[in-house]
Amino acid sequence: MSNGARQAEYLRAIGVEVWRRRGMAPPPPVVPAAAPAAAVGVAAPDATPPGDDWVALQAEVAACTRCELHRTRTQTVFGVGHREADWLIIGEAPGAEEDRRGEPFVGRAGQLLDNMLAAIGLDRKTAYIANILKCRPPDNRDPQAGEVAACEPYLERQIALIRPRLILAVGRIAAQNLLKTDLPLARLRGRIHHYGPQRIPLIVTYHPAYLLRTPADKRKAWEDLQLAVRVFRDGDVVGGGQ
Ligand code: SF4
Repeated sequence: MSNGARQAEYLRAIGVEVWRRRGMAPPPPVVPAAAPAAAVGVAAPDATPPGDDWVALQAEVAACTRCELHRTRTQTVFGVGHREADWLIIGEAPGAEEDRRGEPFVGRAGQLLDNMLAAIGLDRKTAYIANILKCRPPDNRDPQAGEVAACEPYLERQIALIRPRLILAVGRIAAQNLLKTDLPLARLRGRIHHYGPQRIPLIVTYHPAYLLRTPADKRKAWEDLQLAVRVFRDGDVVGGGQ
């Protein structure tokens, strides 16, 4: 299958055909057919063994009892992907399937995230995917402030090791905690934020689990991804930042 055909397939999977039927122009391809990887600065698949810092951090997380969630988890969900990825995707917390398999974003929501990333030339081997929390909150309830505070240093250390060029915050919980704000997701989308002292550009979009429940908002998620690609390619000159 050609790159163009593959991208079209991914776009169909995230709902682009629906938008076309509504009379919208098809979104411009963000991944040139001839060079999908280079378009978003994708790192080669990461086959190198993790360095000491990664090994120590992963072991620390696996044994963590800093918050009460350690009592109910099956296992910690550390993160997956390239350890020097340009793109870091951050979600909320493991769900039941993630808790069982030890990997973030699996199941139907994970499949949708994979398709969204594939539409811009990324996958979970060339990006890095992590969550705000490493352990599953019971019954998938929202993370509590104390749990986020306890777990945050792990994510900060991951970010320091990865040194991503762009962060995609997926869902309200991830966006609000990364940006230290109570603003609703609708107010956080569509603009360029920055994370940490390095001021890493950060773009906010919907959580794929939400998009599965609310497919009408897939169009907006696609706009978010296009903004992220533009920011990655062109820097912060594409729109107002904060
Ligand atoms: Fe530790 Fe984070 Fe799990 Fe709480 S959620 S036990 S802080 S790894």
